[in-house]
Amino acid sequence: MTDTHDNTAIGASPENNTKSQSATDRRVRPRRPKALGSLRSKFSLFVLAATLITTLVVSLISTHATREFLHSRVEQKLPSLLKQTAEKVTLWYDQRLHEISVFASATTLIGAITEYIASGQQRSREEAERFLGYLLENSPQFSALFVLGNDQQPIVWVGPKLTLPKEFLGDDSMTNSATLSKATKIGDRTVQIAASPLLQFQDKKLGTLNAVLTMDSLEQHLNSSELSDSALMFLVDGNGAYIAANAPLPTGYVSALALPAKPQEPVLTDYKSGDQHLVGSALFVPGINSVLVVEESYTKNFAPVVNIFWRTLAINLGIALLFSIGAYRIAMSISRPIEALSKGVQQIAAGKTDVLITETSSNDEINLLTRAFNTMTARLHEKTKALKKLSVTDGLTGLYNHRFFQLHLSRQEEIAKEDCRELALILCDIDNFKKWNDRLGHGEGDKILENVAEVLKRHSRKSDIVARYGGDEFVILAPNTKLEMALELAEQLRRDVANKVSVSGEGGATTSISISVGVATFTKDSKTLFNDADRALYLAKKAGRNCVRATGIKYMENVAGPV
Ligand code: GH3
Ligand code: MG
Repeated sequence: MTDTHDNTAIGASPENNTKSQSATDRRVRPRRPKALGSLRSKFSLFVLAATLITTLVVSLISTHATREFLHSRVEQKLPSLLKQTAEKVTLWYDQRLHEISVFASATTLIGAITEYIASGQQRSREEAERFLGYLLENSPQFSALFVLGNDQQPIVWVGPKLTLPKEFLGDDSMTNSATLSKATKIGDRTVQIAASPLLQFQDKKLGTLNAVLTMDSLEQHLNSSELSDSALMFLVDGNGAYIAANAPLPTGYVSALALPAKPQEPVLTDYKSGDQHLVGSALFVPGINSVLVVEESYTKNFAPVVNIFWRTLAINLGIALLFSIGAYRIAMSISRPIEALSKGVQQIAAGKTDVLITETSSNDEINLLTRAFNTMTARLHEKTKALKKLSVTDGLTGLYNHRFFQLHLSRQEEIAKEDCRELALILCDIDNFKKWNDRLGHGEGDKILENVAEVLKRHSRKSDIVARYGGDEFVILAPNTKLEMALELAEQLRRDVANKVSVSGEGGATTSISISVGVATFTKDSKTLFNDADRALYLAKKAGRNCVRATGIKYMENVAGPV
């Protein structure tokens, strides 16, 4: 018997599977889940969403924390820098005022000026000039020194001359302490003057000693390594005039922090100036009635925040992507075998039993399930095969049974009709079987049936179908067989049964068993074929049994063999 199914491995090569699947299989193939509805898509999307949300939250938290940290750093840095610088600036001015008051109290200078005022002697004026020249040489913080008389007219002047506006000229009310003038722009430079009264004995005022301050030396104090390159630190007086700055200020520059407030405490503010976002602070310096301002680019100070945000985002996105790929692969490793299993179950439901799902080498739960499934289907397949065999086999003789013969007969009928092929039918019946059965018992009768079946099997060709038609009747359906060949085969069968099948009677004597054979070939249809063979068998019985008969051939009465 042949098995019409080939084993099909699901999951090994879908293409090959598809080719080898029958139309029924294709019909029952499970529908692939829609892209977004599949288990792997759901799982991967979940992991992607989870990691993305975590990523965003972590990025935002770290950005916020960095911003807070930077803000507190800038909040500490700028005001404390401002305070330190204010102290340095105050000290610088104090030193200049102290220096000018010390210079103004020099007896050489007071003596020379007193004498000059009293006598108008040029020598005295020159002596004062020499003295001031010496002081100027040793005081880089002053660019010029000059003495004004009580009439505000210069008596002595060393250093570059300046045409001073009226407000610069010494104050009549000035008594015995050094003072600082307002800062004023003269040409392209800011000028500020420190002045101290020149007092004769008994505090009689001779005039004032004035010093033009060198702003360069003050500006040095406005530079700090803690500031970025673009940062500005500058000093403005009560009228908003710039006194000094750490870098040249743009023409007409007005800082939002410079005026009109006089902040007693430096507070960090961030504000817009033109298209620039700035962060800065201002502090009123009372000793010099000025405001010290520091300004830095907001973006530069907070650039690390943006950097950190993008960097954490990029790293986290990378991690999210890796996790998602991993999740997708895990989901695939779960969903693929499940899909294959579901396909296998569908095929079994459709009646196919030789289903095999590709196993992997891993010992995970899915593979264990796949293995169990394969074992189950292998057993099911074996059992189905055995059942199928049973359903077409005669239990006693092992030949095909009546049912299978009928099926095969219709199939061969179709072939014979379509292709005009020869088809012969040989019908055999054991002679007087009832008698042997009654005499020897059913068991011995069965043995006779088995032995006759053995002879038939031995003589049949691969293409022949040998079946037990029922009781003591057998059939051989021989495709591509002409009547002569069929008759020859029938005769061989008859002879072999007569020679080889026997029974032991009473007293040990053996008696041969014989068969009668009817032969027919296909003419019209299977029914006619069978009826012809049956009629021939009847003729054989009628001719005395143990002979072969075929329809359409003349035989002599009671003689085994044709006329
Ligand atoms: P004939 O020569 O005309 O064929 O005479 P016969 O005695 O053989 O008559 P028939 O063919 O009608 O007898 C068939 C007998 O086969 C009847 C039945 O008791 C017997 N038989 C049917 N099936 C079995 C079986 O499975 N085992 C045994 N031992 N006997 C069976
Ligand atoms: Mg019989």
